[in-house]
Amino acid sequence: MNQQTMVAAVQEAPERLVIKEVPVPEIDADEVLIRVKYTGICGTDWSIYTGLYSADRLPLIPGHEFSGVIAQTGKNARGLKEGDRVTADINMSCGHCFYCKRGQKLMCPEFTQLGIHTNGTYAEYAKAPAELVHVLPENIDFMTGAFIEPVSCVIHSAKALDVKLGSSVAIIGSGLGILHAAVSVHKGAAPVIVIGRNKKRLEAARQMGADVTIDVDEIDDPVSAVKQYTGSRGADYVIEAVGKPSTYAQALEMVRPGGTMAAFGITGLDDKIEIRPFDIVLSEKAIVGSCAGVGQDWDDAIAMLQYGRIQPQILFSKVVPVRRLEPALLELRKNRDFTKVFVSPDSIEEQTL
Ligand SMILES: [Zn+2]
Ligand SMILES: [Zn+2]
Repeated sequence: MNQQTMVAAVQEAPERLVIKEVPVPEIDADEVLIRVKYTGICGTDWSIYTGLYSADRLPLIPGHEFSGVIAQTGKNARGLKEGDRVTADINMSCGHCFYCKRGQKLMCPEFTQLGIHTNGTYAEYAKAPAELVHVLPENIDFMTGAFIEPVSCVIHSAKALDVKLGSSVAIIGSGLGILHAAVSVHKGAAPVIVIGRNKKRLEAARQMGADVTIDVDEIDDPVSAVKQYTGSRGADYVIEAVGKPSTYAQALEMVRPGGTMAAFGITGLDDKIEIRPFDIVLSEKAIVGSCAGVGQDWDDAIAMLQYGRIQPQILFSKVVPVRRLEPALLELRKNRDFTKVFVSPDSIEEQTL
């Protein structure tokens, strides 16, 4: 493989995403080489494109929500073989620090993510540590396989939030918020309320099990709208899945006294909201953060998809070739009707799903 080259999308500088021939990655004994099938475009890719993330890691091949086929295995890659259909947990850490020893690898000072800090999958080939590779069950197709990463993130957050049977859940955001709705239904939440502003996405949220959808363009105040469905108290649990200071402030107001808010949406680095400590103390509101799906969250995401508990296919919008990544990134910012767009090195023409 050593002298071979492949086509990749390389982020050379902020807003400079170049399609070029680069060497196929070389693997060591603990890694596998994967022929990429699909990569889902994620908001994080946009943040890398604009320079908000990873500006110190460029040039970089982004792409982290992926599936593919093992093309080559390192000699320590036990239980894996050429031809296996796979995806991989993207979270890498040192394995021996204070946090790693406690199973909190996301907090590791040496924490990195494939496709965010190291070369990813907008290419024909990518490499991954063998220990992070998951073989896809037969009935999970490659496109769904590329969607395991976002499902694992939602599952990680859902475990932190720990919704109780019969509790109300309000979700702000109709991107991954739609998946939060599906998972909340499985946790036994009632009602599940999704707040968004795109008709198609809110319809998808209802199809995925949301009881109530609220279009922010049709109401004055999302907080009072949620109170209408929750005995004027506010929701037992609120999930912020937008990532703006204004929606974080709403989320804290929307959760009832004694309730819990999940911080899921990623804001800008310097964004701030005002909190009155008085309110947190007297109303005993709790906030739980969650950074990414990691470890067992991946097995759990695979099980939920394998047995059809989550059927995300209605969120899949189209497939584009690697060379169309940049226009697809730009289009996703403008057209909110698109939810998940996949990039494929095998694709020649755009294909609407
Ligand atoms: Zn992602
Ligand atoms: Zn560590």
